[in-house]
Amino acid sequence: MIHGAFIFLIIKSKQMKKIILSVFAIAMIFASCENISEESLVVEQMPAIVKQESEIPCATMDVLQENILLNPAIKGRMALIEKHTEEYIENKEKYQGKLVNGKIVIPVVFHVIYKSASENLSLATLQGQIDALNEDFNLQNPGRNTIPSEFAAVEANVDITFEIQQVIRVQNSKKRSWRPNDDMKKSSKGGSDVVNPQEYLNIWVVNSMPYRGGQILGYAQFPGGSWTTDGVVMGANFVGSSHRTATHEVGHWLNLRHIWGDGGCGVDDFVADTPESDAANRGCPTYPDVSCGSADMTMNFMDYTNDSCLNMFTLGQKSRMDAVFATGGFRATMAD
Ligand SMILES: [Zn+2]
Repeated sequence: MIHGAFIFLIIKSKQMKKIILSVFAIAMIFASCENISEESLVVEQMPAIVKQESEIPCATMDVLQENILLNPAIKGRMALIEKHTEEYIENKEKYQGKLVNGKIVIPVVFHVIYKSASENLSLATLQGQIDALNEDFNLQNPGRNTIPSEFAAVEANVDITFEIQQVIRVQNSKKRSWRPNDDMKKSSKGGSDVVNPQEYLNIWVVNSMPYRGGQILGYAQFPGGSWTTDGVVMGANFVGSSHRTATHEVGHWLNLRHIWGDGGCGVDDFVADTPESDAANRGCPTYPDVSCGSADMTMNFMDYTNDSCLNMFTLGQKSRMDAVFATGGFRATMAD
């Protein structure tokens, strides 16, 4: 199942789409006598594409599909959360108080699961990651001065602060790597059990998550999943002050979808002020990078572009995140 989802993710990469289309165009010139469908060409090109993609920015949607297969009730819970989110956005005045313009402080529990000493990240590195989260969620990130004016108009101060509550260190001398199957969240599997997920953000840091020749940077669980696996998982190489993977994953943890909605034009990320996009962007595209008739917001933290080019959340994304903490929201206990 993850195999299928992974292929889906790769096809959704815009650069890959361009390669596929180029190959298709060339093939049409040289093989115009043969009846080759675009679909068959895409399938034939897949092995080469997988080799070129050494980093898998985020496995959140893959893990969600796996978890829904194991526990179909998650789908219903997420639909209810979506309904509450819509209700919150339409009736914000009903929720006036600390959540509309207030400050939320989220205590973070790090679970550092390591084999070698170098994977046992220092407190300074973990604090550097917290500092980066605080920059990104409070309009303090240095790259924000590069945001084009079209998008600066909807840039949001999410106004959430993170602080280290606890660091749990578990040495596992056997595990050189982990699969994205939540084993790292279970002491019975050589990992570390979740701590008070209704009050704390749990972040597991594991040595590596290789997958089919690639490396998963991180994944998160959306609101609505099991409390025993609630939180974010990060590869140790992608944790620290210069990394933005945690910002992206915490965005998912607060109910944000990928900026392209995990589909083509017309598929929504449930946010009104993010432009439609046909696929994930990678690298650091030059503005304007147009798809679906408008410039993509490639600098949004929920895209797949390079860390140094990820610089903003929008007001609409902030509303979705606020809804999670509002009365009736999945993480309302954190705002009490
Ligand atoms: Zn993601």
